[in-house]
Amino acid sequence: MTETTAANGRPRIVIVGGGFGGFFSALRLERRRDEGPAPHVTLISDANALLYTPFLPQAAGGTLEPRHVTTPLRGPLRSTEILVGRAVAHDAARRTVEFASASDERRTLHYDHLVLSPGSSSRMLPVPGLAEAAVGFKTLAEAIHLRNTALQMLELANTTSDPDERAAQLTFVFVGGGYAGVEALAELEDLLREARRLYPSLRDQPFRWVLVEATESLLPEVGTRLSAYVMRQLHDRGIELRLGTRVREVSDGVVTLDTGERLPARTVVLTAGVRAHPTVAAMGLPVDDAGRVRVDDTLAVDGLPGVWALGDAAAVPDPARPGLTCPPTSQHVTKQARLVADNVLASIAGRPSEPFRYRTRGLFVDLGRYKAVASVAGLQFSGLPAWFMARSYHLSQIPGFTRKARVATDWTVGILFDRDLSELGSLGHPEPLDPQGGQHGRD
Ligand SMILES: Cc1cc2nc3c(=O)[nH]c(=O)nc-3n(C[C@H](O)[C@H](O)[C@H](O)COP(=O)(O)OP(=O)(O)OC[C@H]3O[C@@H](n4cnc5c(N)ncnc54)[C@H](O)[C@@H]3O)c2cc1C
Repeated sequence: MTETTAANGRPRIVIVGGGFGGFFSALRLERRRDEGPAPHVTLISDANALLYTPFLPQAAGGTLEPRHVTTPLRGPLRSTEILVGRAVAHDAARRTVEFASASDERRTLHYDHLVLSPGSSSRMLPVPGLAEAAVGFKTLAEAIHLRNTALQMLELANTTSDPDERAAQLTFVFVGGGYAGVEALAELEDLLREARRLYPSLRDQPFRWVLVEATESLLPEVGTRLSAYVMRQLHDRGIELRLGTRVREVSDGVVTLDTGERLPARTVVLTAGVRAHPTVAAMGLPVDDAGRVRVDDTLAVDGLPGVWALGDAAAVPDPARPGLTCPPTSQHVTKQARLVADNVLASIAGRPSEPFRYRTRGLFVDLGRYKAVASVAGLQFSGLPAWFMARSYHLSQIPGFTRKARVATDWTVGILFDRDLSELGSLGHPEPLDPQGGQHGRD
């Protein structure tokens, strides 16, 4: 194992997580000029690209190419040292973080300031059989897997002779009606509605889309009027809403609800919110009841000078809602990232830290089919204007001019032409070579 210490008296800053929090704090540290030697910044990330999660539903629905919903870390970040792998341990007394690469090359990194933004993972519900049967919707791998599964179900339904099996193949159950669940369902329903036109045998088959939500409404954060609009839109598209309902069990390909209703379904998607990433527990940090790192309003971790946390993994006091913590949104995290960089630099220069100040500017929920809802600066929009605002907002937010151009091109192509329905489930998983296989024309 190698040990790395501060270089040439430069303060050493280690950032964990290459998502919104980690990427934007590194970018801010690169762009801010302060007196004194420039800090040496190391970013530990388990991927070499930032995933722009608001575009995951569109990657699943095929309106955006999977690669275009990511931004490579190298390029926008020029002077930051990027180590792709995982932060696996933390020693607060020695002020070190242990890094492990994918090939288990280990390195101990000394830090003066540690910034933690490992994000979140899908919240698992205590429902028997759910973990085995469901796919989450948090990563690009999950989004593309879901797209491929949905297209595979069409192919299977096209050839199966058993009507009950076909009905289960054409039933899609989403568990959790937050914005990620609603957007993912809306995009996939769009995809399959368009695709079924090309399957003569399936044209008259009923497709079932069921959204199961434990509370009595969808998306309360967008307000009563827009929430009602969303529910009406989904209902008009034939999507079955099961509000105030929980999943009791998933077994033998059947989802059983607490009302006793049984839904035979081959595709179950878990979109029931998030919980702090397991990295938080591995780092030995003070946590709240929800497992998030406890921080004050300057993003400093309680009782650990020089350690900071932000994003979905941290319980950041919400300045807009006293007594509550910030919701897990990229909007909040991006602002926290700027603040944490400024506070780290202030701390190095011996200046006081600033508190987090932010009020949500707007909320957008894309419903596909040129429809969305938007709540911006107290005003509410729905339908085509909201859809246009949502797309414009996200285009402005995805980092990098190249990515903006690629996304805009995908959207334009999507408006002019039919969706691409290729199912690429085997991508990245080639069949192993046959050791006995000779070359044609020899022996
Ligand atoms: C489908 C979906 C749609 C969304 N849509 C919106 C939206 O429209 N608007 C909005 O504001 N928000 C949206 N969000 C929420 C937003 O994505 C999160 O709030 C944001 O990503 C949190 O940023 P973060 O830096 O805390 O975590 P992330 O962006 O998740 O980044 C954390 C990164 O750190 C990595 N990591 C974890 N542990 C380690 C380790 N030990 N070592 C190295 N790397 C590690 C993780 O794998 C991850 O890549 C959406 C989320 C999802 C899932």
